[in-house]
Amino acid sequence: MTRTGADPGAGAHGDMPASEFREEGHRLVDWLAEYFRWSLDNPVLSRVKPGAIRAALPPAAPEEGEPFERILADFERVLVPGLTQWNHPGYFAYFPCGFSSPGALADLLSTAVSQQAMLWRTSPAATELEDVVLAWLRRALGLPEEFEGVIYDTASTAVVHALATARHAKAPEVRSLGLTGRGPGAFRVYCSEHAHSSVDKAVIVLGLGHDNLRRIAVDAEFRMRPDALAQAIDEDLRAGHTPLAVVATVGTTSVTSVDPVPAIADVCAARGTWLHVDAAYAGAAAVLPECRSALAGVERADSFVVNPHKWMFTPFDLSAFYCRRMDLLRAAFGLTPEYLKTSETSEVRNLMDTGFQLGRRFRALKLWVVLRYFGLEGIRERLREHLRLARLFAGWVDEDPGFERVAPVPFSVVCFRARPQGAGAAARSGGGEAGALNDFNERLLAALNDSGEIFLSHTSLDGRYVLRFAIGNIRTTEVEVRGAWDRIRELARGLAEGTRP
Ligand code: PLP
Repeated sequence: MTRTGADPGAGAHGDMPASEFREEGHRLVDWLAEYFRWSLDNPVLSRVKPGAIRAALPPAAPEEGEPFERILADFERVLVPGLTQWNHPGYFAYFPCGFSSPGALADLLSTAVSQQAMLWRTSPAATELEDVVLAWLRRALGLPEEFEGVIYDTASTAVVHALATARHAKAPEVRSLGLTGRGPGAFRVYCSEHAHSSVDKAVIVLGLGHDNLRRIAVDAEFRMRPDALAQAIDEDLRAGHTPLAVVATVGTTSVTSVDPVPAIADVCAARGTWLHVDAAYAGAAAVLPECRSALAGVERADSFVVNPHKWMFTPFDLSAFYCRRMDLLRAAFGLTPEYLKTSETSEVRNLMDTGFQLGRRFRALKLWVVLRYFGLEGIRERLREHLRLARLFAGWVDEDPGFERVAPVPFSVVCFRARPQGAGAAARSGGGEAGALNDFNERLLAALNDSGEIFLSHTSLDGRYVLRFAIGNIRTTEVEVRGAWDRIRELARGLAEGTRP
């Protein structure tokens, strides 16, 4: 790209001169390349104590500007120790964060070109690229063509929009009148006992009332029971409530179970209830033909969300939301003050109409870069490898009498716990055998995370303290998975024998 006229490097404007930008930019990228190498030998879970970072920083902003180099040096000295390394190959906690180097470069690019896509005219590129990449993703996952997409920051934001649209479908008057004028019946929302807490928050934020979220019982494999759902909805109808929406999950947070979406869709269709499918983590697996069945029934959903920032190598944050009735979503949220009116509105999509947020980052860019850099085949290869590694790990757990697997492994998360033989574990706890096992696994997790080599998280299943081993980091290989398993066994043995505190 060439430019005539004044050299911005001369620093005539208030920004960093171009020559300095070039120099510091190179330094930053070099620093990052080093950091990626350095980070491998440093703790995955940050070891700083609460308040330490704050204490190391001055209480007020400097009056005089400082050189970028000095700021970067402080970043390294003060902040790096407080970074929990989500992109470390030994990161196995929660769900992965979709990191990749091309994705990170794309985020830099997106910020540097400074796009804010509230209106088509404020960024035709960001607006139209968003359409294009969401169509690519829709096709790659085998979603219906009628699903129109929009990018939000997170699945939490997506479910708020899904439920608000469901409410607009049922009771458009709420937009003007609010909920206060409604009769005694309440809007009800349903999800399984294992659905993500973002559903609770959506119900709270929309003023529907937390008590109006009904958690439906699950079967032995942690999947929502459609019979229990139908019963709950019918009960509510008899009581004069208004069943609003069901949130089904494909890949629940604790155990990655898959709710039976086709049967749930039947229940919803028979009762006129909105169906939102939350596939925040596991939806990405549908790029694999052999995993497509995980999304069976989704073609009957009213809305759907998948997070490329979880398991598609796209840096946080980028959540892809699809809706069959985007017209209703626009009706629920559309509002154009004079200062945002434009002449081309009838020909274009203004992203501000597809939700409560006005300003929009150029998020589509990183998904575009990731999809192009790896290609769908490259993404499939990586996901297949993660699935293979999860099966391998699950096999090791199954074969070891000192451990047990506590849930099926449909994707790349293994839920398991140690079951040490003998009295060593029980001796330390007064809560009987179940309490002793929970206590043992809690101590095992703390020891693993203290090791600095790996980071795992936990959940609770039917009163059992369970460790979750979540694979999905682009840099994780069999070496780290095997190393983690060796460490888990070694630490469990040490705890059981009392050679570790
Ligand atoms: N849904 C499921 C199934 C999740 O596991 C999570 C987070 O882990 C969420 C929703 C919320 O994701 P986000 O952080 O994008 O709001």
